Amino acid sequence: MKKDLLSMLPQELEQELTALGEPQYRAGQIGRWLTRGVRDFDEMSDLPKPLRDKLSEHFRLYRPKVLSKQVSALDGTIKYLWELADGNAVETVVMTYSYGNTVCISSQVGCRQGCAFCASTIGGLVRGLESSEMLDEVLFSELDSGKKISHIVLMGIGEPLDNFDNVVRFLSLVNNPKGMNIGMRHITISTCGLIERFDDLAALDLQLTLTVSLHAPDDETRSQIMPANHGRGVDELMAACKRYYQKTGRRISFEYAMIDGVNDTAFHARELVRRAREVGAHVNLIPLNHVEERRFKPSTQGHMKAFMKILDEGGVNYTVRRTLGSDVDASCGQLRRKMQKKI
Ligand code: SAH
Repeated sequence: MKKDLLSMLPQELEQELTALGEPQYRAGQIGRWLTRGVRDFDEMSDLPKPLRDKLSEHFRLYRPKVLSKQVSALDGTIKYLWELADGNAVETVVMTYSYGNTVCISSQVGCRQGCAFCASTIGGLVRGLESSEMLDEVLFSELDSGKKISHIVLMGIGEPLDNFDNVVRFLSLVNNPKGMNIGMRHITISTCGLIERFDDLAALDLQLTLTVSLHAPDDETRSQIMPANHGRGVDELMAACKRYYQKTGRRISFEYAMIDGVNDTAFHARELVRRAREVGAHVNLIPLNHVEERRFKPSTQGHMKAFMKILDEGGVNYTVRRTLGSDVDASCGQLRRKMQKKI
């Protein structure tokens, strides 16, 4: 089995080259080609032919194919469907904000968390993405769209903390000053609350933003819509958030999709105030997006207003997330894996 070259950190590639009897500076040359999107050793024209042959003998590279590209007529949001080396396909979204271009990437092929309102979990988990596959979601979204990417959110398909090692490696790759050089402060990881991984992430002391998909402040409601709440519970989730904040000094955000009649009552708003204050969290309210197979509806304007009034009175910081790309099913919770039939 050939090794996945793009998933290697620069120092690892140097070691591999040394083991092959090659000088370490070749790693820098190879790295520059990779960052330009070259995925074929024969195109690395400043490497001697025998080295290119040796590289293709030991390492593999793959260039993700665009299976579809949809551009929203409403706001210019772009949704890509990429074909991966094994025929699986995942989606990536590029959004333009006043502060720059944000790419929303998938971290797994499918998802096993089972949230009742989300499309990504339909069909379950196939596998985690390699670090190289996540890096290429960012790089080829930038190269294809011509939009310089300044921010990354791991809010596409999958649960990033369920693919912990590959995600952490991806973060070092994309943060590499000689690579895409995207600052940790411009990266957000979103989790459904796999608290057993919070301390591991905090220990790395990265300056990224962790956001928790809370969606309900009480166990009864949360367990109904998010299986990940079972055996963990909101109290423990809050304790893990507090520890994370204490260790990293980075404020946590809560995602809260407003679902009609499920999590949008005055009781939920008051409990959310208590939880957000307890953790010092910023709240992102998301009007629920439509998912064909799901029975849930977004909260009414009236219920959202009443809910926000309680948050205002409770002194909670919140924003209502703008819905982008809804005409191409590119909004939160609408991304799904696909399988390309090989002929
Ligand atoms: N597994 C991670 C990453 C996915 S991020 C997580 O759970 O956070 C995708 C975000 O969209 C999550 O906050 C998710 O809960 C939210 N979401 C899922 N389905 C949605 C829907 N139908 N409408 C609005 N938001 C949704």
